[in-house]
Amino acid sequence: MTAGMLVGIDLGTTNSAVALWRDGAPELVPNALGRMLTPSAVSLSRDGQSWVGEAALDRMATHPADTVTSFKRMMGTASTVTLAGTTLTPEDLSAMVLRSLADDVEAATGERPTAAVITVPAYFNERQRRATRRAGEIAGLEVRRLINEPTAAALAFGLADRGDREPFLVFDLGGGTFDVSIVEMFEGIVEVRASAGDNRLGGDDFDAVLVRLAEPLLDAGVLEGLPADRRHALLTLAAERTRRALTTAEEAEFTVVVDGEALSTRVTAEAFEEAAAGLVKRLRDPVIRALRDSHIDVKALSDIVLVGGATRMPVVRKALTRMFGRFPNATVHPDHAVALGAAIQAGLLSGGGGLEEIRITDVAPFALGVNTSTRDAHGRFHDDIFAPIIERNTPVPASRMERFFTLGDNQRQVTFAIYQGEARDVKKNVKLGELTVPVPPRPAGEVGVNVRFTYDTSGLLEVDVAVPETGLTRNLVIVDEEDRRSKGDIAESRKRLEKLKVHPREEAGNVALLARAERAFEGFTGHVRDVIGQALTEFQGALDSQEPRRIADAREGLARLLDEIDARSPL
Ligand code: ADP
Ligand code: MG
Repeated sequence: MTAGMLVGIDLGTTNSAVALWRDGAPELVPNALGRMLTPSAVSLSRDGQSWVGEAALDRMATHPADTVTSFKRMMGTASTVTLAGTTLTPEDLSAMVLRSLADDVEAATGERPTAAVITVPAYFNERQRRATRRAGEIAGLEVRRLINEPTAAALAFGLADRGDREPFLVFDLGGGTFDVSIVEMFEGIVEVRASAGDNRLGGDDFDAVLVRLAEPLLDAGVLEGLPADRRHALLTLAAERTRRALTTAEEAEFTVVVDGEALSTRVTAEAFEEAAAGLVKRLRDPVIRALRDSHIDVKALSDIVLVGGATRMPVVRKALTRMFGRFPNATVHPDHAVALGAAIQAGLLSGGGGLEEIRITDVAPFALGVNTSTRDAHGRFHDDIFAPIIERNTPVPASRMERFFTLGDNQRQVTFAIYQGEARDVKKNVKLGELTVPVPPRPAGEVGVNVRFTYDTSGLLEVDVAVPETGLTRNLVIVDEEDRRSKGDIAESRKRLEKLKVHPREEAGNVALLARAERAFEGFTGHVRDVIGQALTEFQGALDSQEPRRIADAREGLARLLDEIDARSPL
């Protein structure tokens, strides 16, 4: 373990922030300008100068072609950006922001951070997460952990102090992305139960609405002569300023300065809200999807927490209050929550006082499964159909098993191709590997093969295939080659996963409870017997679902029932 300084970083699409765990609390670190937020913007010049943050953003108006923002959207892709003749990857650009934040910490504390907890959107896939890790390494930071942004935000809002099953809905509207997540603690573990979003919706879109509203009112003379990209940059900057002003005022000036000449018009909050109605409508869908995926009722939400600068807009808060019939929680500054939560996680990792009890987990961002074939009503086979084994939004680490059957007469082997994705057609998903197991020759459909997927937060997927008839097994561990974790780490992860593989039906506690319930069922008649039977069916259904949460609920219900019956017994 390194002894150096560990910081928490919100590496955002629009803005980034860094925080420390100090004296038992998270604390933001200001940048050289004294601001807590550093725009995720980079600008270069031909002579090799570089600017990051506010200074880069300032160059956006004068050198739009040499300046870039929103490069987080490119993370995990092969795209590059060429600024003033220099070609950079999205990791390079992110690393420049990270380095600038590390500089700020060094300036503020006198110590250079050597390690970081970095936040990523809950929907980031393995490739995007790996790119984020690489950005940290390029910046000279050991990335001790990546945590999901909504998890970090929920920690900052005190989720861990609430106890089990007090779900938070994290409503994060940033500059260009909108994310809704449902986060809760379960048996001392913080989990993202579901996440949904719209990665093309954020403050920027509200800026565009404002430009459309205000531009026709400007005396366009000076604007007319400008190149399109410069004109766009100037109008957007003006819109953003106006929009912020409208957060606290009923009316604001929309001003563009071109070559020393100011063009100006007034915009009312009312006109803005009207023009933004279409955007506000789009906030609803992801909320509904997240609630549905998590199977959590809106009434069961313990809190609705606001994250992201754009949630400061009154029009957004009003819409939320209407949507939920109650006021959202904004007790933590929405722009700071994610970085503060990352610092809390940093505190946890360094054994910070009183925090040891919380553990954090994640959900699988995409479904994991295999290719299968199905036969239609005419007996024709359709190949390459995706059969998910671990569903999207399943809390990880997770282990699930499915059984498949042979399709051909006297088939000698079965090959499973393993995929990550959501599409029904496997070819549209990401292929992770392949595994073949020999089977005894039999008529089609007579040989069953069990496929078990076991997945953990570090992206280690273990696939076990077993043919019960012959006892033959095959095992494949899918780790990313680029993952730089040591062999020891992987062995440790595998050991951890090993524990998960027991089917809940075979766990000692569950076996004992089933036996007890069956005895009780045999020992009673009539109504009591019916009630026991129902609880027993419920519990067995839960065990078959392999969902820890459902199992816990059903187990508790059944045990309580049996205790009550025992208590009433005359003996
Ligand atoms: P990201 O997570 O995408 O990096 P942020 O959470 O920093 O983004 O949010 C940036 C957005 O918040 C921008 O669109 C910005 O205009 C908006 N924003 C920040 N402060 C305010 C404010 N006071 N009023 C309205 N919008 C604001
Ligand atoms: Mg953000």
